[in-house]
Amino acid sequence: MIREYGIHLKGGIIAQRDADYCTLRLRMPAGVLDTTRMRGIAEIADTYGNGTVHLTTRQTIEVPDIHNLKLEEVFEALRANGTPVGAEADEIVNIIACPGTARCKYANIDSIALAQRVDKSLFGKQVPVKVRISVSACPYACTSPLFNEIGVIGRIEPLREPGLCTGCGTCAEYCKECAISIKNGVSALNDDKCIMCGVCIHSCPFELLKSKHRHYLITVGGRRGRHPQMGRELVAVETEDEAVEVIERIVNWVRRRAWSGRLLSDQLDDLQFEQFKAEVISDMEK
Ligand code: SF4
Ligand code: SF4
Ligand code: SF4
Repeated sequence: MIREYGIHLKGGIIAQRDADYCTLRLRMPAGVLDTTRMRGIAEIADTYGNGTVHLTTRQTIEVPDIHNLKLEEVFEALRANGTPVGAEADEIVNIIACPGTARCKYANIDSIALAQRVDKSLFGKQVPVKVRISVSACPYACTSPLFNEIGVIGRIEPLREPGLCTGCGTCAEYCKECAISIKNGVSALNDDKCIMCGVCIHSCPFELLKSKHRHYLITVGGRRGRHPQMGRELVAVETEDEAVEVIERIVNWVRRRAWSGRLLSDQLDDLQFEQFKAEVISDMEK
């Protein structure tokens, strides 16, 4: 007997072909999970499911084949395990992140820390349209932030400092964008080609390349699905606090101004992106 009214309408419960069963998608900010909780999920899948789990593209774990009559029990077991049921309806769904500065040598920002902060602030909030958020710590963009409603990319703008450049070409070798050339025996940066990955900065044996501007590029309105679209650049901010604030502002805008039944990217097209930008961040721009 299901006692909690409307439990099937909660995000994170996915109906299966056999209507008596469903799949539970778990809340897993940045896809990080300790082994104790992982064992707990395994036990729950053994006890209530079919003994398997499914890893999703949004860095969560799904537990399939849960009988509807067991939902409340499983909800409680997952909550006690510290891995509650996640979100999948018109909500802020699982926030994903690449490993970032904790592990990746290319990282320019702490993507996991940012994703976990945003999760604490926004996860599960109901909004008129589903909002997916993805954080990548460098322009390699391993978590495809440009194909999410809100994306974050950590970037570093390099600056060639005056000094004794030998023209060795090491930095040019490292730059995969061919944005550095050796002219008249010294290195020269081409801003038009530079994607601000920051790789060259660590390559110069004489430390002539510095970080001019480390920042969080925030994009809006991307999507995957049947008609994929890349998000548009909204703003670049310098601190994690500012990045959290911009993301919260976008979500607040969605709650107040968006309507259901139409993808956010289409709504931004309707509204004109510049107007959206003005409404969300005009008072933050310097
Ligand atoms: S996006 Fe960049 S920092 Fe993140 S995992 Fe990929 S290469 Fe590393
Ligand atoms: S930041 Fe990246 S793209 Fe830009 S010059 Fe350096 S290596 Fe090339
Ligand atoms: S690696 Fe350093 S010294 Fe060599 S060309 Fe580049 S800036 Fe000059």
